Amino acid sequence: MIRIFFQRNKCIGCNACVEAAPFRWRVSHKDGRCTLVEGESRRGGQLYIARVGEDEREANEQAARNCPAGIIRIEG
Ligand code: SF4
Repeated sequence: MIRIFFQRNKCIGCNACVEAAPFRWRVSHKDGRCTLVEGESRRGGQLYIARVGEDEREANEQAARNCPAGIIRIEG
């Protein structure tokens, strides 16, 4: 298992994470920010955390590298 941390309030909706891992990231039509699929909300929605399988590591590490805002972190 890996954990994905996402500071949603700083997202600029550029879509780079979606291109790297489309099964895990989606830009919301409501506010133009990204959504971490199956992410649990923390700090009133400023931070989201998702625990996902090892098979998703590479794609989500790529998403983290691609994110120009530096708001995706992978642990584990
Ligand atoms: S790459 Fe970063 S800034 Fe761009 S949509 Fe994804 S989380 Fe938001």
